[in-house]
Amino acid sequence: MTLRRLGGGLLGAVLILTSLAGCTRRVPPVDDGPAPMPEPTAATTVYVAQRIRTLDPAKPLVEALAVKDGKVLATGTKDEVLAAAGNDARVVELGSVTVVPGLTDSHGHLAGLGQGLVTVGLQGVDSKAEALERLSSAPSSAFRGDWLLGQGWDQNDWQDKAFPTRADLDARFPTRPVALSRVDGHALWVNGEALRRAGITRDTKDPAGGRILRGEGGEPTGILVDNAMALIEAVLPRATDAQHAAQLTAALKHSAQVGLTGVHDAGMDLRTFRLLQRWDKEGKLPLRVYAMADGQTGDRETYLKEGPHEGRMLTMRAVKLTLDGALGSRGAALHQDYSDEPGHRGLLLLTPEEYEARVRAFMARGFQVCTHAIGDRANTVVLDVLSRAAEATGTQQSGRHRVEHAQVMRPEDIDRLGRGGFIASVQPTHATSDMPWAEARVGPERIRGAYAWQRLKASGAVLALGSDFPVERPDVLAGLYAARTRQDLRGLPEGGWYAGQRLSGQEALEGFTVGAAHASFAEARRGRLQPGMDADFVALTVDPVDAPASELPGAQVRLTVVAGIEVFRAFQR
Ligand SMILES: [Zn+2]
Repeated sequence: MTLRRLGGGLLGAVLILTSLAGCTRRVPPVDDGPAPMPEPTAATTVYVAQRIRTLDPAKPLVEALAVKDGKVLATGTKDEVLAAAGNDARVVELGSVTVVPGLTDSHGHLAGLGQGLVTVGLQGVDSKAEALERLSSAPSSAFRGDWLLGQGWDQNDWQDKAFPTRADLDARFPTRPVALSRVDGHALWVNGEALRRAGITRDTKDPAGGRILRGEGGEPTGILVDNAMALIEAVLPRATDAQHAAQLTAALKHSAQVGLTGVHDAGMDLRTFRLLQRWDKEGKLPLRVYAMADGQTGDRETYLKEGPHEGRMLTMRAVKLTLDGALGSRGAALHQDYSDEPGHRGLLLLTPEEYEARVRAFMARGFQVCTHAIGDRANTVVLDVLSRAAEATGTQQSGRHRVEHAQVMRPEDIDRLGRGGFIASVQPTHATSDMPWAEARVGPERIRGAYAWQRLKASGAVLALGSDFPVERPDVLAGLYAARTRQDLRGLPEGGWYAGQRLSGQEALEGFTVGAAHASFAEARRGRLQPGMDADFVALTVDPVDAPASELPGAQVRLTVVAGIEVFRAFQR
């Protein structure tokens, strides 16, 4: 049943993972979303495993778990659970795996992930030449009209760490427009034809909150940062409905395969929301989607008018605002100059006044406010505004307003974050991806308040962990590894990068379960496995708490269960 729907067990998983890495890309069939989920059955199923970590303080480690009507019926020893489940219960022996509560990525982008699964992925390429090679063998799904689209490049991974230019692309693509978004989604690399169609010339002024990088004589180099990307987006043909549906189907399927039972979508456009709303009504969503409305574009007017939405698997009661750019492209807003670019302090994408007006409007409408803030200046502005607006709306603690990334912070702001009852939504793999160059950007002083997970915890803030996919892979095992080690996959640097900020295995697992549940007002129903709670869980070939962290990256997801339904299974029965 579920095997067929999600495309064939382990083989299917391997195929999709390979395609994410960008080697071979299948064109997904044009379809209308995932197949309908079966209804939770009244029949009882008992899962038995070597170890079940419930995160229920009363019974943290058990060997069996009974599921009925999509909920946890009982946990305990096999005998206890079999007795509770009754004689006609189905028993599934999972063998030597560790079962944990459903894993939730607290910050991802489903539409971006889906687009990455069907356009040219440039993650992991070593050079511009290799990027061009990949572009030359683009699948048909990578085109919108005659535009060729790709994503995921990162010049920090290349020998030549300078930004690429239009000239690199023009030699290969003289007449076809090409637009490639950077791994962090905060810069576009385009060719001359794309610039021409967007009308970008040496005379085009930088838009507010954006930069057109320029070379000799003020000529655009082909790199557009932050709000300057909108100049291209304005002329880019829209994905067709079929392309859009295929992208989201691919993203949902992939999420289930990597062990996610839930995703907090950090800034959902209205078109995606409408499609997911329909699929939710039709019972087609294989995992729980906690959506943040896109508060950046004109879509926000509709979201404000309609107010929060609570569906079966889809909830929309948060808004995402983006206050600054990213550290990699030096778009993060800092109080003082970048240490590696004197005179430059990054960009606020919204004026503090405009930001505050939007925050107040959404808070007054009952939304949780989630703000992207990476630089220390952006974080200061967010905390100033959130504190004022939460007080005005009476939602200081109850609003659970969130700072997305909370990446480079002044010590006093870290304290304010916890004291204010705000949530720190952080991404462990950002730290390990950024650690080779982050200190060069901000210097030895400011780096102490960067990616400072233990300091954030000590301030009293709840940590909700995520990956920010497709910026990073939506791989929770990689996230748990990065959280525990602050090392790359080769185990470097020895001892971990600013190792005092590492999380324990327990803390890391909590960040992807109970922390994520708290951050989405779902802690009474999810995040732990105890009777009455939703039967969302995952079986892993590794114990994420007690096994050496080095075993995490090579481990596998064996089973993903959402509301008692097996949405992914990597073994035959
Ligand atoms: Zn994001």
